[in-house]
Order: sequence, then C-alpha cells, then structure tokens
Amino acid sequence: MQYSPFHSNSSDEMAQYKDFSATYLYCPQCRASMPVGERLLLVLPDGELYEYICQNCGQALGDKKTKSGQP
Ligand SMILES: [Zn+2]
Repeated sequence: MQYSPFHSNSSDEMAQYKDFSATYLYCPQCRASMPVGERLLLVLPDGELYEYICQNCGQALGDKKTKSGQP
C-alpha cells in the first residue's frame, strides 16, 4: 500500500529505464510497473513460449511467443 513508484529508495529503478532490454509490466499484486523476467514455459514445434514473471512477487504477468526462425 505504501509503495510509491516515484520514491523507490531501495533500488536504482529509474536509472534503468534507459535499458531497453528490461521489460516493465504492470503488476496488480505490487500495484506498480515492475521489472519482469522471462521464463521458458513451453517449447513448441515452431517456436518457444515464454512467461513474464514479476521480479518482486513472482506473479505471472503475461506471456510471449517467439518464432524459431524457420519460415
Ligand atoms: Zn509483483
């Protein structure tokens, strides 16, 4: 409840916004945009399915499918 995205004194969150490799998604559990990590969920015949996991609470926030590169 007391978490404010504008006053994060425990991490360098703001400084990392310029890093485009970091993905932020809104986490309903943390009630803020949180950095997420990718976790390999499934290997499909034509690609891979990844899940986005909140780095703070571990909640799954979404997923992403990548193609294996074969047309
Ligand atoms: Zn979270």
